[in-house]
Amino acid sequence: MVSGVPRPALFIDRDGTINRDCPYCHDPAQLHVFMNAVKLMKHYQKLGFLIIVITNQSGINRGYFTEDDLERFNSALLRRLKNMGVKIDAIYYCPHRPDEGCTCRKPETGLVKNALSDFPIDLEHSVMVGDRDDIDGEMAKRLGIEFLNISQAAHF
Ligand SMILES: [Mg+2]
Repeated sequence: MVSGVPRPALFIDRDGTINRDCPYCHDPAQLHVFMNAVKLMKHYQKLGFLIIVITNQSGINRGYFTEDDLERFNSALLRRLKNMGVKIDAIYYCPHRPDEGCTCRKPETGLVKNALSDFPIDLEHSVMVGDRDDIDGEMAKRLGIEFLNISQAAHF
């Protein structure tokens, strides 16, 4: 159950935003973290925002990699970010292919809805960051929250 004082969240895409897109990243050896994303997350972290990763990982249901591979890659990412002073509060991912018609694949809003049931979040003041206007930006629009394209966040 959600309890405590609601905080705004920085919802952030993973591939192409926090780390270089491979694509279908799953090998920790391929992990390359972008410094502007690190700076941006640190900025919002200092403002008291929760930092929550929202990522489409259809490579799982396409059979390109397993959930264990995903966990390994995410663990490497969390470790790297922790060493750089960023604490990720949670990672939510969608394993489905586009043809499965789920409600969690961005730009659908299911992953954020899950986060809202797990954390006390002030959605109105939350922000979504991503590299795709048509996916990340569209999800932000459906949620009625601000969207920041990482390509415009070079000043962080
Ligand atoms: Mg992306």
